[in-house]
Amino acid sequence: MTSNRPVLVTGAAGFIGFHLCRRLLSDGWQIVGLDSMNGYYDVNLKRARLDQLEEFPHFRFEHVDLADRDRVSALFASADPEIVVNLAAQAGVRHSLTNPYAYGDSNLSGFLNVLEGCRRARVDHLVYASSSSIYGGSTRMPFSVHDSADHPLSLYAASKKANELMAHTYSHLFRLPTTGLRFFTVYGPWGRPDMALFIFTRAILAGEPIDVFNHGNMQRDFTYIDDIVEGLVRIMRLPATANKEWRSAAPDPATSSAPFRIHNIGGGSPVELNHLIELLEDALGKKATRNCMPLQPGDVPATCADVSSLEQATGFRPRIPIEIGVRRFVEWYREYYRA
Ligand code: NAD
Repeated sequence: MTSNRPVLVTGAAGFIGFHLCRRLLSDGWQIVGLDSMNGYYDVNLKRARLDQLEEFPHFRFEHVDLADRDRVSALFASADPEIVVNLAAQAGVRHSLTNPYAYGDSNLSGFLNVLEGCRRARVDHLVYASSSSIYGGSTRMPFSVHDSADHPLSLYAASKKANELMAHTYSHLFRLPTTGLRFFTVYGPWGRPDMALFIFTRAILAGEPIDVFNHGNMQRDFTYIDDIVEGLVRIMRLPATANKEWRSAAPDPATSSAPFRIHNIGGGSPVELNHLIELLEDALGKKATRNCMPLQPGDVPATCADVSSLEQATGFRPRIPIEIGVRRFVEWYREYYRA
């Protein structure tokens, strides 16, 4: 904990937001959680996550859509957050092919409203979710934050790249310290029902076939949720002092940009989809029926994170192996769905 001002977490009822809030609340932080509770996937799952958060007395929930400029502005004014972690977004690559405006509303207009709120409330640090998808079909592995990432293959990826550019502008013009974290395929308990691990688990248990894209030869740098949360917490805390010192320094127009940082956060050892399915079969004790399909439009064949900048900044790199993470996910799934 750093001060009496709260942390504002957007997307608090979402997969990553829920885990982050739970960790911060356990550590004693005051949290204002915002979410629109949109119907992109099962709202009951979001409600169940919120029920857990609402057991903490120092958690306050605000049912607000980031695209609602007036309500976001009023919330920033009343909450006066010290740190903002922006996780609310319309997620999903494939969904963006058929629902482009959801991405414009939440990820572009909504993000702009967050930036404006941070500027007006003089927030000490904005941490926001970017994505590995911004690297597009790059074959230069591992993906480094020092390489260019200017060829997003989906509107989702483009909206995340746009967030980084917008954040840069606010860091520069308005001296707002920002850190973008490029998440690589996050998984774990309370995970998202639109993601492969969840879809496969449900189908295998139901005895239904699973669609395996790119014939299972896709590689993903899966990242366990606890590693994402640890990275977020370390990043959130890290620059607080430095940012305050920086704020009180005399402004120099030539170098007036606030700290602007981008880090990858990924497991660091990509896993082939076929191998993930084998691990899942082991954990479930049941074989999958595979329906092999080509690579889908907007999808990339492989992702792999270079996390050296994260490690340099925080001393932390993700460490939970996929074998353990998949088992923990399956344990949660079986208990939650009584399956
Ligand atoms: P999620 O969909 O579970 O959580 C996002 C939450 O934001 C949802 O509860 C949703 O209701 C809320 N939301 C959406 N639009 C909103 C709006 N306009 N106003 C207020 N709330 C809104 O997704 P997640 O997996 O927890 O992802 C969190 C963030 O991380 C997102 O920005 C996502 O793009 C990014 N990300 C996730 C992954 C991953 O593998 N899970 C990978 C890369 C990036």
